[in-house]
Amino acid sequence: MSIHKNQPKGLFLLFFVEMWERFSYYGMRALLVLYMIKFLQFSTEKSGQIYGWYTGMVYLTPLIGGYIADRYLGQRKAIVIGGILMALGHFTMAFPALPFFFSALILLILGNGFFKPNISTVVGSLYEQNDPRRDAGFTIFYMGINLGAFFSPLVCSTLGEKVGWHWGFGAAGIGMVIGLSMYLWGNKTFLGDKCIKPSNPSKNYYPPIIILSVIITFLVLSAFQFSGYKIKESIPNYVYWIIAIIVLFGLIYAYLSNSKNSTLTKIEKQRIAVIFIMVFFSIFFWAAFEQAGSSLTLFADRETNRIINIFGFSWEMPAGYFQSLNPLLIFILAPFFSKLWVKLGEMGKEPSSPAKFSMGLALLGVGFVIMIIAAKVYQASGPVSILWLCGAYFFHTLGELCLSPVGLSLVTKLAPAQFASLMMGVWFLSSFAANFVGGYFAGNYDAMDHSKFFLIPTTTAFLSAILLIIITPKLRKWMHGIH
Ligand code: GLU
Ligand code: ASP
Repeated sequence: MSIHKNQPKGLFLLFFVEMWERFSYYGMRALLVLYMIKFLQFSTEKSGQIYGWYTGMVYLTPLIGGYIADRYLGQRKAIVIGGILMALGHFTMAFPALPFFFSALILLILGNGFFKPNISTVVGSLYEQNDPRRDAGFTIFYMGINLGAFFSPLVCSTLGEKVGWHWGFGAAGIGMVIGLSMYLWGNKTFLGDKCIKPSNPSKNYYPPIIILSVIITFLVLSAFQFSGYKIKESIPNYVYWIIAIIVLFGLIYAYLSNSKNSTLTKIEKQRIAVIFIMVFFSIFFWAAFEQAGSSLTLFADRETNRIINIFGFSWEMPAGYFQSLNPLLIFILAPFFSKLWVKLGEMGKEPSSPAKFSMGLALLGVGFVIMIIAAKVYQASGPVSILWLCGAYFFHTLGELCLSPVGLSLVTKLAPAQFASLMMGVWFLSSFAANFVGGYFAGNYDAMDHSKFFLIPTTTAFLSAILLIIITPKLRKWMHGIH
């Protein structure tokens, strides 16, 4: 593989650190629902709510972690704090009582907020503004994410389900400790003094204290609610949006009210607007993509013939195995994409980032067309071959590679230095929104005709791809020379 030639050394440290962090995140996530249903004896409905709350909130806190890094801590310290909080969270999870369970989830939500946006920003800081290696670098970093995401469900589920829950959660914790130790060992050597100081320092500590208090209060109240102290039957969806909007506006206010260099030029403002527009389109992508864990897994479970016959042996593949397909395909296909962008770049034909996003959405749509046909085949003749889902995941993954690593890279290019991590937090906001929208949509799976169900993400994907390509010339203007 020649794609890693000439990449900065720091990238490889961050690759392995993020690989272990994602190992811990996805390993724990693979166990979470089963643990709630089988061990804590929660109902399926309640487990679904807690799962949605957790996977949504882990993508809201990066906004706060990014802000605190930009203004108070610097990214490097924030990464260490995030890593410690997450390791503590995983180990707390290994204790069986309910208060430990909720404290663990809260620690993980906060830890992820400090860790995830900031490590991505540090990757961006390894490159000069117009360095052509940046997109390829982010694609390599994305391979690290997915290497972790591929192995961990296999390791943690096997330990958790076959040996004991605390072994599975403990394994996730050990993964995080390995990642953190590697970071502490190598960061000075490989990253020098990059991102040590806050890019836009402030001495006014009230805004972060108030914002952190709002979010922690919300998390603790939710935990009480879930543990049976009835405040209301279930947390209505709009509460999450209200919290998100308060946090977002609180942060914008905090920036504008006490920042010396908050006066942005017109160019910077337009570039920030492009980030928000891209985040908006990404919501449609991730909300459909996240069906992997819900409706697509139900399709695998109920409507797919998972019995595989090899040399007279027949074996039923567990439905959950499909979860590892996407990270595996990312790992296989990412080098190809990385080379493709560099080659096209050399020929002067590399598509702009909005055009790549549009391709990503269209490819996702193609994946769902396959699902529409698969659902029709099932209606006509019963359980379908596993190849249908494999085909759908193949196209979803091609789409993801045009959008996700490109998005990370784009944010680091477009964001003014003083907002670097906050804007990375804004990028993850698309996943926050998508987890709620996607989860809500998946709740209709049983009630709808399945080919009609899959028609909805297909239509939104194609329509948003078309809309995005129409506005691409305008976006390119606002990007002012950034590709
Ligand atoms: N699956 C990728 C990760 O874990 C991207 C997640 C997202 O942006 O929603 O980093
Ligand atoms: N592909 C996802 C992300 O890129 C990982 C997953 O869903 O397993 O990392």
